[in-house]
Amino acid sequence: MIISKKKDIKDILKALEGYKTVYLFGCNSCAQQCKTGGPDELKEMTEALEANGLKVLGSSLVPETCYRQYVLKEFRNVPAAKEADAVLVLACGAGVRTVADANAETQPVLPANDSIFLATVERQGRFYEGCALCGECVLIETGGICPHTECPKGLLNGPCGGVANGMCEVNIDNECAWVRIYRRLKKQGRLHLMMKITPPKDHSVAIRPRNVLQRTPTGSVPKDRKKTG
Ligand code: SF4
Ligand code: SF4
Repeated sequence: MIISKKKDIKDILKALEGYKTVYLFGCNSCAQQCKTGGPDELKEMTEALEANGLKVLGSSLVPETCYRQYVLKEFRNVPAAKEADAVLVLACGAGVRTVADANAETQPVLPANDSIFLATVERQGRFYEGCALCGECVLIETGGICPHTECPKGLLNGPCGGVANGMCEVNIDNECAWVRIYRRLKKQGRLHLMMKITPPKDHSVAIRPRNVLQRTPTGSVPKDRKKTG
């Protein structure tokens, strides 16, 4: 799940300076779970903008704002979405990007949130970064704990010399990621993996922007992904 946090309303109002009407997009997936883009937040944002003199023409809560087809459907079916001076998106950055690609491009599309990480979810409201999307997964050898993400130094061969009583020298309240990896591998009878030297990461596999262009059943790359703005 993508974790997002709300931007300060003052920053949002500043970004909306000069516009009179706004349309809102929320996201009923990750942002709804983070309480940054669900029905309550759309209502709260509508009230905050209207209290500051803006007219909110309406809002759409789409199942996933990062899914272009859902967003296109709203622009097709809801005239107010196209008529507003600006669109404010209560979702992650991918949602903002999707809305910005789906509208007429003459209408400014602004983020209401900051996107912060990809999380594992313990339960609602308790999210932990578990994967940094490096493109070359080493979890096969680390007992499912990611050193690239969970060690602040991103050490692929650890622990470092700073570990003290099992705790991390950087995030002093956290147990060292490599101590946890050791313990888990020991339980699994795979401690020999601790002796393996992992080569440096090949960062060329994660050159941005990354994409996956699956072929359609007719063998062609989907038309709308061939060219991006
Ligand atoms: S090694 Fe870590 S950051 Fe890379 S893909 Fe695996 S879990 Fe994600
Ligand atoms: S103590 Fe462990 S988690 Fe912290 S920086 Fe060193 S190796 Fe990484």
